[in-house]
Amino acid sequence: MKETENFDDLIAEMEEYGRSNHVPIINEKGMPVLLEVVRQKKPHRVLEIGTAIGYSALLIAKNSAEDVEIDTLELSEERAATARAYIDRSPYKYRIRIHIGDAGENILKLHGSYDFVFIDAAKGQYPDYFRKVYPLLTEDAMVLADNVLFRGYVRGDAECPRRFKTIVKRLREYISLVSDNNEFETVIREDGDGLAVSRRLPKENI
Ligand code: SAH
Ligand code: MG
Repeated sequence: MKETENFDDLIAEMEEYGRSNHVPIINEKGMPVLLEVVRQKKPHRVLEIGTAIGYSALLIAKNSAEDVEIDTLELSEERAATARAYIDRSPYKYRIRIHIGDAGENILKLHGSYDFVFIDAAKGQYPDYFRKVYPLLTEDAMVLADNVLFRGYVRGDAECPRRFKTIVKRLREYISLVSDNNEFETVIREDGDGLAVSRRLPKENI
């Protein structure tokens, strides 16, 4: 028996699981942006907020530095268990730690310093996540946030359904927070559901 199975087959199985079970894993248009940034950055210490079934965590692991360690936060015990089972079938079994519980609480328990953060959990909490993650960032950190253009409601004049109003307001707040902060250079990528890519600038550039 093989130690670990084919990685691409595992990823394809997860995509299928995501589709059949309506798990909002990063979509096929957003994923290339995530991979592009990770491949360029080659991070060593990653924080992911919103594990779901471990799909993006595995893709980040594969494309990061060889010594990468990932902390990933997930509220749902069931999803975390599914993620654990998938991750255990990969070569990154010992590189990914899942922390179960509310991300807003669990970020405060982390001690590590992170050179890459992927924000992809409760959309209404992005500003709070950013503020809590900030003290944990390395001087050259990158922060990537998924779904910041949320179904086209964040920019432009598409009428936003009532139930999304708070989410959209908070996502606009997140975009302002990272764009107005002169410690970071932020690019909003319109691919997929929109991604905010924020790069912390070297001190002499601020
Ligand atoms: N990053 C994953 C997808 C994450 S989907 C991928 O691309 O593969 C968003 C996840 O955030 C869901 O699994 C949801 O359960 C989780 N989530 C929602 N609210 C949360 C919270 N308050 N704390 C931690 N996780 C949360
Ligand atoms: Mg997402």
